Amino acid sequence: MREILPREPLLLMGAGPVPIAEPVSRANGVIINHLGDTMSRVITGVQKMSQYVFQTKSDKIIGVAGPSSAAMEMTITNLLWPGRKVLVLKNGTFSARFGEMAEAVGADVDYIEPKTQPGYIEARAVKNALKNKQYDVLTITHGETSCGVLNPEIEEISFLAKERGVLIIVDAVVTLGAMPVFMEKWGLDAVIAGGQKALGSIPGISLVAFSESAWGVIENRKNTIPHWCLDARKAWEFWGFHNYHYTAPVPGVLALHEALNLIEEETLAVRFARHSMSSKALQEAIKAMGLDLYAPEDMRLNSVVAIESPDSASNAKIRNYMSETFGVEISGAFGLDIMRIGQMGEQCRAHNLFKTLYALGISCRYYGVDVNIAKAMSVLEENLAQDPETFVP
Ligand SMILES: *Cc1c(COP(=O)(O)O)cnc(C)c1O
Repeated sequence: MREILPREPLLLMGAGPVPIAEPVSRANGVIINHLGDTMSRVITGVQKMSQYVFQTKSDKIIGVAGPSSAAMEMTITNLLWPGRKVLVLKNGTFSARFGEMAEAVGADVDYIEPKTQPGYIEARAVKNALKNKQYDVLTITHGETSCGVLNPEIEEISFLAKERGVLIIVDAVVTLGAMPVFMEKWGLDAVIAGGQKALGSIPGISLVAFSESAWGVIENRKNTIPHWCLDARKAWEFWGFHNYHYTAPVPGVLALHEALNLIEEETLAVRFARHSMSSKALQEAIKAMGLDLYAPEDMRLNSVVAIESPDSASNAKIRNYMSETFGVEISGAFGLDIMRIGQMGEQCRAHNLFKTLYALGISCRYYGVDVNIAKAMSVLEENLAQDPETFVP
């Protein structure tokens, strides 16, 4: 490992995985028995804290030993089967993934896409689609990480779905824990959160919360569920009754427990304010530097900021230089000519922002891009600390 890893850990400022706080890292090094009283207390703690973080009273909260994609697959494979009709709101890589999964279980899949790219699917378009056909399920990606786009009309879309008796599955991987997501108030039926993104934990373990209506569909389902590991009723053996389903990824569950605990201690209100202030300061600073943001303001995701590549230089070269010279990593994108900076959990800390912005500026300049680094740094500073009481630590 010493030969493979850099001498100093890289500062991960991309679209995930994100840096983890010390208590999360410590928990990730601990193994306890996956069954028994101690584990029972951990499971109950994860569910109790999740109720707060998801903003739901539903107790049907299940951890998934797998990436966020596995959690997405748990919702799809339990709520859809051959003949069930699903409307997929598709505006990027992750929202499209729901469609691929739904097709794979034999559901009848329709897509709506935005008129422009970058874009989100408006409530108006959803209303029309729901009028024309009776669906069983609708899927929506609250924050589409691949292009840095938020769907600001999610609450209205959920209301429209409810009106027609359609269950709404929400990918909140990049939003839940970083910006407002209110499962109960918004009437969401299955909400997916991923460890390594806005929750600030490790990759490879995720969470799903089901509403009572969604759980009712799962409980009353007659045909078998094709994914044994992702069968929610089987998973409930462990998450509901603390019995064996498969051996849970114990360190991952402990890490999630600590990540949720940090969110609860900080409180959602303070955490959302920190994320919003941090991300907006970064956005202003990037503009001041002379670079363009990819998503228009009315749909801009705060937890992942997408930046257009400068015309004169390749973003892959800039990112490599940032990584090699400054030890700071940001993301490219799948197919789009953009760079993405994450604003989730520990990424939203003043010292990380200054380091990242400086590294980005110098790396752009190295490749001949005309940037105003000093102005960017001062705009960042002005926006991060507006008065002695409100600042991003
Ligand atoms: C990262 C991400 C996923 C997939 O997460 P994995 O852990 O890689 O499976 C799904 N949805 C969104 C919105 C994401 O940002």
